[in-house]
Amino acid sequence: MDDRTASSKDDAPPWHTLGAADVAARLGADLDNGLTAEEAARRLARDGPNEIREKAARGLLAMLADQFKDFTILVLIAAAGVAGLAGEVSDMLVILAIVVLNAIIGLVQDYRAERAIVELKRLAALKAVVLRDGRLHTIPAAEAVRGDIALLEAGAAAPADLRLIEAPGLKMAEAALTGESTPVLKQPRALADAALALGDRVNMAFKGSTATYGHGRGVVVATGMATELGRIAALMQAIPPAPTPLQRRLSHFGRRLALALLAICALVFALGLLRGAPPLLMLMTAVSLAVAAIPEALPAVVTVMLALGAQAMARRNALARRLPAIETLGSVSFIGADKTGTLTLNQMRVVEAFVAGRRLAAAALDAGDETIRRFIDALALCNDAAAGEAGEGVGDPMEVALWRIAAEKGRAKERLEKDAPRIKELPFDSDRKRMTTFHRDGDRFVAFTKGAPETLVPLCGDDDFAPERARLLAIAEDMAADGLRVLAVAARAWDALPATADPAALECGLTFLGFVGLQDPPRPEAKAAAAQCRAAGITTVMITGDHPVTARAIAAALGMLAPGDEVMTGPELRLLSDAELAARMERTRIFARVDPEQKLRIVEAVQARGAFVAMTGDGVNDAPALLRADIGVAMGKSGTDVAREASALVLLDDNFATIVAAIAEGRRIYDNIRKFISYILTCNAGEIWTILLAPFFGLPIPLLPIQILWINLVTDGLPGMALAAEPAERDIMRRPPRPADESIFARGTAWRILWGGVAMGAMALITQAGALRLGVDHWQTMVFTVLTLSQMGNVLAIRSERDSLFRQGLFSNPPLLGAVVLTIFLQLAAIYAPTLNALFHTSPLTARELAACVALSTPTFMMFEIEKWLARRGVISR
Ligand code: ATP
Repeated sequence: MDDRTASSKDDAPPWHTLGAADVAARLGADLDNGLTAEEAARRLARDGPNEIREKAARGLLAMLADQFKDFTILVLIAAAGVAGLAGEVSDMLVILAIVVLNAIIGLVQDYRAERAIVELKRLAALKAVVLRDGRLHTIPAAEAVRGDIALLEAGAAAPADLRLIEAPGLKMAEAALTGESTPVLKQPRALADAALALGDRVNMAFKGSTATYGHGRGVVVATGMATELGRIAALMQAIPPAPTPLQRRLSHFGRRLALALLAICALVFALGLLRGAPPLLMLMTAVSLAVAAIPEALPAVVTVMLALGAQAMARRNALARRLPAIETLGSVSFIGADKTGTLTLNQMRVVEAFVAGRRLAAAALDAGDETIRRFIDALALCNDAAAGEAGEGVGDPMEVALWRIAAEKGRAKERLEKDAPRIKELPFDSDRKRMTTFHRDGDRFVAFTKGAPETLVPLCGDDDFAPERARLLAIAEDMAADGLRVLAVAARAWDALPATADPAALECGLTFLGFVGLQDPPRPEAKAAAAQCRAAGITTVMITGDHPVTARAIAAALGMLAPGDEVMTGPELRLLSDAELAARMERTRIFARVDPEQKLRIVEAVQARGAFVAMTGDGVNDAPALLRADIGVAMGKSGTDVAREASALVLLDDNFATIVAAIAEGRRIYDNIRKFISYILTCNAGEIWTILLAPFFGLPIPLLPIQILWINLVTDGLPGMALAAEPAERDIMRRPPRPADESIFARGTAWRILWGGVAMGAMALITQAGALRLGVDHWQTMVFTVLTLSQMGNVLAIRSERDSLFRQGLFSNPPLLGAVVLTIFLQLAAIYAPTLNALFHTSPLTARELAACVALSTPTFMMFEIEKWLARRGVISR
């Protein structure tokens, strides 16, 4: 059957007016078994991937063309024109060569950034659960095809446009498509009105919307650009990605700096003319200086560094969904971490039970005993785990653990259910913290309930049972103190199946059966990560729905608790005002028995105290807290699409230690950006001082325009970029977080740029004055060389903010070492290669002159090292 002809006809009725059978017939879909793998592959080849096509990625040529749109490049091209008109053909050619080289460097940077971002997008791609060949498969959403049967669960994004065929309780958030912020309740029946607005087509789930409640199943009726989202995608693509806060600040700063520099250049030009220098030379000098000094590449380099950083983080299982997050990750001062799965392995195992009046190890549970058998049957039947294809348990890890122990004791759920099928249930919810299932029991019925002890034990027995309840809860608490998650299990016999679904009427008068204790080992690497956080001035707080005693035991095992640290429970939290909560945050390190909704209040309370908050989450209810946190962190393995979309960071391995690694990486990237900026601006300042101050000392113009451009091209481009590869400083996780709103020029950076530039300019002028006094003809080549070498000293010194280069060693950043060696080699070529001599107006230096250049460029390097030495001694602050 060809599904294409039917649906591509314009007069075909819209999908929402058709019944499920008609939809299936038109799409050649099989509602029970799904498509076959071959058919799906055929359709994928025919229709193309289910993707919203982005604005076509820029081709290399377009990227290259973009390089020539830059203001300074245009100035350079104009300068080349002026040089050509004035008959300076070789100058013109060199300037043009520099323009081309600049463009190539820019192109390489752009290309690397773009590749890194594409790769991140690929990693963050959505998944879809589809039925094929009668089995469920999780596939990349891009591979979903028309006619697929797709499943939706609360928290999942619709992978394509679906005509729903089942939708119990399903609610979809469709704000991205309709602007309507309240989720829409869906239902599967056909609708009569063909002209309904999107928001009213309640039997459809559209790509780009997410399920917030319930679950559903639907036939894929449109994919990729044919979806409703695809139709409006052209509108969304018109909005360019917003620059990061740092990029915004830098381009603002760059604009002001450019104005100031243009004024300086005008001054240089005027001073030169006054002193009678040739106007053309002065014009070229001023233009070259402007080109050399304006740090036009700053925002672009920041993008490259962030994008490369994001790639490095992804290799460590932390996927940044937004570039600004990388910039600010290093500022995190508070982490709210879920216990189960993030701090623990989420590998639950039953280790103990309290049944028939005794605490028994799991191995000692004997189903031969009538009381114990009933307890185990309750674990098996009041359970949502199921056997997978290979006979393993599938479902929530805790349910699977209970399912498994029952099977091990010869009471497999699948077998028990033959005699005692489930006929009614009250599903688990995190308010009641329990679930109940009803089963046939001969010609009567039995209900099993399991849940948190303190909510379930009070429902057991009658009034006479009160003293016994207190004793039981003490036992549960004892078990919890060993770090076990404890569940209470109870039963109630019913003569007839009750008609009501009201938990209050059904979960009462229960007979207590026992407690089961489950162990979920802490993640081995979490302990070290928590210690790292403490050293790095980051407060970590455990957030859990589990019992406070269990939470405390696990936090203690992870070394997260100090004397005086407090535990707060959800019910306590509810009674506090915002101000009281903020005050209590000081000492609270565990939040137990909290609902996901309460996470939002926790985030707001710590933010009110000035903290920069990272908060983890995985469910739909976590989304508000994830959005509100400064860095929302979603689980990549166990989390929902909704949580992921609300987050800035996704942990591909759900692991707490990965957050900490990402923070360290964020700090490194920010450091390197700052080092890069400081380096470039110090160098530029050195060049400006040299040219600007020379006339005041009665010296001729120190550098020719070509030489200025060369210094700028060679020293800024290569070594500067290699700073991106600089490894983290030794103390990166032993210093407190940087305030997120701190200026990039804080901590001495501005000073370093000022005095470093003056020092470099001074050494260049001393070289010039000295050489002139001694009658050295090559003085200009010497000034040129001293400036280049000083900048190499600068880049080597700036690698660390505190450690000396001698401690770091030359080889700990090979790309940078390579760039420095290459730059020195190019400089030597400019001095000694006859062709380059002609182009750059240089002349070969004697060995003594070269040695003098090396000697004259070391003082600036030594001064940078002395500054770090003073910082290490605490004489100046960093
Ligand atoms: P954490 O926050 O550490 O991840 P959690 O997510 O399991 O814990 P909830 O899911 O809110 O927290 O569960 C809270 C409590 O409800 C659990 O400690 C347990 O006592 C009870 N509970 C959880 N799941 C079930 C279930 N399937 N059946 C019965 N009781 C449950």
